[in-house]
Amino acid sequence: RAAPRSIVASAVEQSYIMIKPDGVQRGLVGEIISRFEKKGFILKGLKLFQCPKDLAQEHYKDLKEKPFFPKLIDYITSGPVVCMAWEGDGVVASARKLIGATNPLQAEPGTIRGDLAVQTGRNVVHGSDSPDNGKREIGYQCLPQLRVLVLLLASFQVAAAS
Ligand code: UDP
Ligand code: MG
Repeated sequence: RAAPRSIVASAVEQSYIMIKPDGVQRGLVGEIISRFEKKGFILKGLKLFQCPKDLAQEHYKDLKEKPFFPKLIDYITSGPVVCMAWEGDGVVASARKLIGATNPLQAEPGTIRGDLAVQTGRNVVHGSDSPDNGKREIGYQCLPQLRVLVLLLASFQVAAAS
């Protein structure tokens, strides 16, 4: 028997793209969004958001043992970020190519970091590194009430299917 289909998750791949505080402060929001629009991906959600420390730590939890982790959390929480969900087949890997290497000095010209940044610690934009992490990172942006509703609906679905 097929597993029950998720009620709210998009069937199409999504990537969480976040313009970091330096990108917002430097006035690069339009430039960065336009690169994803011109490529042809679909913008499914967008908000300006002051990320609290605990959410920044959760978002970057895979890096919590790294020496730069405290500075990374200070950076991400230093000002508003622009949170976006972009959708399309292959969007996760393609967005990573559009963004370029983590160290902007190694990022190819033509990429966002290659064209617009010089420091790893101020590299203007985040992109999910896998479709599963895309779902996880976009999930953090759901309203808490919506998450409760989804859990309730999912439990009804499981009950109905069994
Ligand atoms: N970072 C840093 N110093 C490093 C490596 C990473 O400050 O030596 C920061 C940088 O902002 C980077 C983020 O931590 O974008 C997440 O690191 P990751 O290796 O996941 O790079 P990304 O996926 O953003 O290219
Ligand atoms: Mg990463």
